Amino acid sequence: MRIILATSNAGKLAEYERLLAGVPDVELESLESLAGLVHVVEDGDTFHANALKKARAVAAVTGVPSMADDSGLEVDALGGRPGVHSARYAGTDATAAQNNEKLLQELSGVRGDERTARFRCAIVLVDGKGRELLVAEGACEGRIAASPRGTHGFGYDPLFIAHGHQQTMAELLPEKKNQISHRAKAATKLVAGLRELQKP
Ligand code: IMP
Repeated sequence: MRIILATSNAGKLAEYERLLAGVPDVELESLESLAGLVHVVEDGDTFHANALKKARAVAAVTGVPSMADDSGLEVDALGGRPGVHSARYAGTDATAAQNNEKLLQELSGVRGDERTARFRCAIVLVDGKGRELLVAEGACEGRIAASPRGTHGFGYDPLFIAHGHQQTMAELLPEKKNQISHRAKAATKLVAGLRELQKP
């Protein structure tokens, strides 16, 4: 099965190629030159809705099975924010540092044991007609640190301490993050779903 991944981010393509390496007969392609043809407003209420919208937009242009993901951070003390707005929490073109600073400001005065949070990821595969074939979701539970630490990863990693760890995600080696992350968990479910789909 040829699947187009709804991203022009080479890093994301490489990550999913690695994760899907064990699934026979799946060939992943990036959007590359088609990227300019696909315009998606990520205005869904859930990660699932946004991933579905992106995957469908690509299938509508290509007619080929397409896969997309959406992810973000939910903070309990903020009623689940920033959630689907994680990328642009501090404004449309906000940097990760600005988003992290805003998060710390909003959590000032919130005690350690009330700083619980989770990363969530939804991956959706649609067929060439945009019909949903698979949805796989994963979460990584943890809490928000008092200040940013670490240089690996991206986004909120310097502030996120996964359950059972002392270091932030940005202090963990990427291999470790890739074992425990929301994306890894969702991808594991996706692989199981793809294997099911391939059964005669
Ligand atoms: P996207 O699903 O790649 O568009 O991610 C949306 C936003 O969620 C990113 O810009 C980050 O702010 C945040 N995010 C998603 N996954 C991670 C992660 O693994 N670490 C840190 N931040 C993340």
